[in-house]
Amino acid sequence: MTTSAHLPADPSSRAAGGSVTDRLVEANLDYAARFTDPGMDARPVLQVAVVACMDARLDLHAALGLELGDCHTIRNAGGVVTDDTIRSLTISQRALGTRSVILIHHTGCGLESLTEDFRHELEDEVGQRPAWAVEAFRDVDQDVRQSMQRVRTNPFLPHKDDVRGFVFDVHTGLLREIDPAS
Ligand SMILES: [Zn+2]
Repeated sequence: MTTSAHLPADPSSRAAGGSVTDRLVEANLDYAARFTDPGMDARPVLQVAVVACMDARLDLHAALGLELGDCHTIRNAGGVVTDDTIRSLTISQRALGTRSVILIHHTGCGLESLTEDFRHELEDEVGQRPAWAVEAFRDVDQDVRQSMQRVRTNPFLPHKDDVRGFVFDVHTGLLREIDPAS
């Protein structure tokens, strides 16, 4: 596939010898050459916002059958519902018309191997304590429940009837739904 940033179509091209960013910019030229403006506005067609971990093995559009323009995707380490996630969800719902929220964590998340000691180590190293929590966790199901709870109890979000949480299995590609009550 000539459009992949992993495999430059021509190994002798500038991209092959350049930085990874050079490769991505090169891939964009191919993308833009084939791109047709669908003429959409900024409101997601399916009126849904997906909050997910930034994990490289999770291809949200492929895994959920999403197409260009369908949804907002809000991603960070862990797919955690932080203040900044709430900021994005609030704008998504109030300014851009989304109604549903899907939360996706996954098996083998890097946050399972961290603890809040990460912050203390940072403080020791650089002399400043970060303002943010690491949001490390041991039980991914419980972390999804906590994330659903943070969305459902947030006063800024007007639409909280359709909030569902899942764990994506990076080995099978399957989503497993988490019962918020168990
Ligand atoms: Zn993760």
